[in-house]
Amino acid sequence: MIKMTKAPGPHPGSMKYAPVGDVENESDFAAIGEGGEKEIHVDCGGIRRCNSVGIKGWIQTFKKLTGSGAQVFFYHLPPTLVDQLNILKHLLCGGKLVSILLPYNCTGCSAEQLLVGKLTDIPAIQANPPKSKCGKCGADTEFDDDPSQFFQFMNWIQKP
Ligand SMILES: [Zn+2]
Repeated sequence: MIKMTKAPGPHPGSMKYAPVGDVENESDFAAIGEGGEKEIHVDCGGIRRCNSVGIKGWIQTFKKLTGSGAQVFFYHLPPTLVDQLNILKHLLCGGKLVSILLPYNCTGCSAEQLLVGKLTDIPAIQANPPKSKCGKCGADTEFDDDPSQFFQFMNWIQKP
Protein backbone atom coordinates (compact mmCIF):
# COMPACT_ATOMS: atom_id res chain seq x y z
CA MET A 1 0.00 0.00 0.00
CA ILE A 2 1.10 3.51 -0.78
CA LYS A 3 -0.04 6.56 1.11
CA MET A 4 0.35 9.63 -1.06
CA THR A 5 0.68 13.21 0.07
CA LYS A 6 1.09 16.17 -2.22
CA ALA A 7 2.04 19.80 -1.87
CA PRO A 8 2.79 22.64 -4.26
CA GLY A 9 6.23 22.28 -5.88
CA PRO A 10 9.01 24.86 -6.12
CA HIS A 11 7.65 26.54 -9.26
CA PRO A 12 4.15 27.77 -10.19
CA GLY A 13 2.14 24.87 -11.61
CA SER A 14 4.51 22.24 -10.25
CA MET A 15 3.56 19.65 -7.65
CA LYS A 16 5.53 17.62 -5.14
CA TYR A 17 4.33 14.11 -4.34
CA ALA A 18 5.51 11.96 -1.44
CA PRO A 19 4.55 8.29 -1.67
CA VAL A 20 5.00 6.43 1.62
CA GLY A 21 4.88 2.64 1.92
CA ASP A 22 5.82 -0.35 -0.19
CA VAL A 23 5.94 -0.55 -3.99
CA GLU A 24 4.09 -3.82 -4.47
CA ASN A 25 1.09 -5.49 -6.08
CA GLU A 26 -1.58 -3.19 -4.71
CA SER A 27 0.40 0.03 -4.92
CA ASP A 28 -1.31 2.72 -6.89
CA PHE A 29 0.62 5.67 -8.26
CA ALA A 30 -2.24 7.04 -10.34
CA ALA A 31 -2.48 10.09 -8.08
CA ILE A 32 0.92 11.30 -9.31
CA GLY A 33 0.40 13.95 -11.95
CA GLU A 34 -3.39 13.65 -11.78
CA GLY A 35 -3.68 17.41 -12.02
CA GLY A 36 -1.90 17.35 -15.39
CA GLU A 37 1.18 19.12 -13.97
CA LYS A 38 4.10 19.42 -16.36
CA GLU A 39 6.66 19.59 -13.57
CA ILE A 40 6.45 16.80 -11.04
CA HIS A 41 8.69 16.31 -7.99
CA VAL A 42 8.63 12.93 -6.28
CA ASP A 43 10.10 12.43 -2.80
CA CYS A 44 10.78 8.68 -2.67
CA GLY A 45 12.28 8.71 0.84
CA GLY A 46 9.19 7.08 2.39
CA ILE A 47 9.36 3.98 0.21
CA ARG A 48 10.49 0.96 2.17
CA ARG A 49 10.32 -2.11 -0.05
CA CYS A 50 9.43 -3.02 -3.58
CA ASN A 51 8.67 -6.09 -5.64
CA SER A 52 8.59 -6.75 -9.38
CA VAL A 53 4.84 -6.23 -9.78
CA GLY A 54 5.08 -2.93 -7.93
CA ILE A 55 7.99 -1.84 -10.11
CA LYS A 56 5.94 -2.64 -13.21
CA GLY A 57 3.20 -0.30 -11.99
CA TRP A 58 5.81 2.32 -11.12
CA ILE A 59 7.28 2.20 -14.63
CA GLN A 60 3.81 2.37 -16.25
CA THR A 61 3.00 5.48 -14.22
CA PHE A 62 6.19 7.40 -14.93
CA LYS A 63 6.43 6.30 -18.56
CA LYS A 64 2.98 7.76 -19.14
CA LEU A 65 3.91 11.03 -17.41
CA THR A 66 7.23 11.60 -19.16
CA GLY A 67 5.66 10.38 -22.42
CA SER A 68 3.06 13.13 -22.14
CA GLY A 69 5.83 15.71 -21.77
CA ALA A 70 5.98 16.08 -18.01
CA GLN A 71 9.35 16.71 -16.38
CA VAL A 72 9.80 14.40 -13.41
CA PHE A 73 12.39 14.86 -10.66
CA PHE A 74 13.16 12.10 -8.16
CA TYR A 75 14.48 12.87 -4.66
CA HIS A 76 15.77 10.62 -1.85
CA LEU A 77 15.68 7.40 -3.86
CA PRO A 78 15.99 4.75 -1.10
CA PRO A 79 18.45 1.80 -1.29
CA THR A 80 15.67 -0.61 -2.33
CA LEU A 81 15.01 1.50 -5.43
CA VAL A 82 18.70 2.19 -6.07
CA ASP A 83 19.13 -1.60 -6.26
CA GLN A 84 16.35 -1.66 -8.88
CA LEU A 85 17.94 1.24 -10.74
CA ASN A 86 21.16 -0.75 -10.97
CA ILE A 87 19.25 -3.51 -12.79
CA LEU A 88 16.67 -1.48 -14.71
CA LYS A 89 18.15 1.40 -16.65
CA HIS A 90 14.65 2.62 -17.53
CA LEU A 91 13.40 2.74 -13.93
CA LEU A 92 13.15 6.55 -13.96
CA CYS A 93 11.54 6.64 -17.42
CA GLY A 94 13.50 9.70 -18.52
CA GLY A 95 12.92 11.53 -15.25
CA LYS A 96 15.86 13.20 -13.51
CA LEU A 97 17.47 11.82 -10.39
CA VAL A 98 18.30 14.57 -7.89
CA SER A 99 19.32 12.61 -4.79
CA ILE A 100 19.46 9.15 -3.24
CA LEU A 101 19.55 7.79 0.31
CA LEU A 102 22.80 6.12 1.36
CA PRO A 103 22.62 3.10 3.68
CA TYR A 104 24.77 3.45 6.81
CA ASN A 105 25.24 1.15 9.76
CA CYS A 106 26.47 2.01 13.25
CA THR A 107 29.67 0.25 14.33
CA GLY A 108 28.54 0.56 17.97
CA CYS A 109 24.86 -0.39 18.15
CA SER A 110 24.19 -1.60 14.56
CA ALA A 111 21.42 0.99 14.07
CA GLU A 112 20.65 1.66 10.43
CA GLN A 113 20.81 5.19 9.16
CA LEU A 114 20.04 6.78 5.81
CA LEU A 115 22.03 9.79 4.65
CA VAL A 116 21.05 12.00 1.73
CA GLY A 117 23.46 11.96 -1.20
CA LYS A 118 22.96 14.51 -3.95
CA LEU A 119 23.70 13.16 -7.40
CA THR A 120 26.27 15.92 -7.90
CA ASP A 121 28.15 14.74 -4.79
CA ILE A 122 28.09 11.04 -5.58
CA PRO A 123 31.39 10.80 -7.47
CA ALA A 124 33.15 12.05 -4.31
CA ILE A 125 31.01 9.84 -2.04
CA GLN A 126 31.66 6.84 -4.27
CA ALA A 127 35.41 7.34 -4.10
CA ASN A 128 35.39 7.80 -0.35
CA PRO A 129 32.05 7.30 1.47
CA PRO A 130 32.02 9.88 4.30
CA LYS A 131 31.87 8.69 7.90
CA SER A 132 29.02 9.79 10.08
CA LYS A 133 27.99 9.60 13.74
CA CYS A 134 25.17 7.44 15.08
CA GLY A 135 22.20 9.46 16.35
CA LYS A 136 21.53 6.87 19.05
CA CYS A 137 24.91 6.01 20.60
CA GLY A 138 27.35 8.47 19.03
CA ALA A 139 29.66 5.81 17.56
CA ASP A 140 30.94 5.99 13.98
CA THR A 141 28.65 4.77 11.24
CA GLU A 142 29.91 3.27 8.02
CA PHE A 143 28.60 2.97 4.50
CA ASP A 144 26.72 -0.32 4.51
CA ASP A 145 27.05 -1.56 0.96
CA ASP A 146 29.68 -2.33 -1.64
CA PRO A 147 30.33 0.99 -3.44
CA SER A 148 31.30 -0.81 -6.66
CA GLN A 149 27.85 -2.43 -6.70
CA PHE A 150 25.69 0.26 -5.14
CA PHE A 151 26.78 3.08 -7.46
CA GLN A 152 26.70 1.12 -10.71
CA PHE A 153 23.95 3.39 -12.03
CA MET A 154 26.43 6.28 -12.07
CA ASN A 155 28.02 4.72 -15.16
CA TRP A 156 25.03 5.62 -17.29
CA ILE A 157 22.64 7.90 -15.38
CA GLN A 158 21.89 11.30 -16.84
CA LYS A 159 24.03 13.77 -14.88
CA PRO A 160 22.31 16.91 -13.53
ZN1 LIG B 1 24.88 3.49 17.35
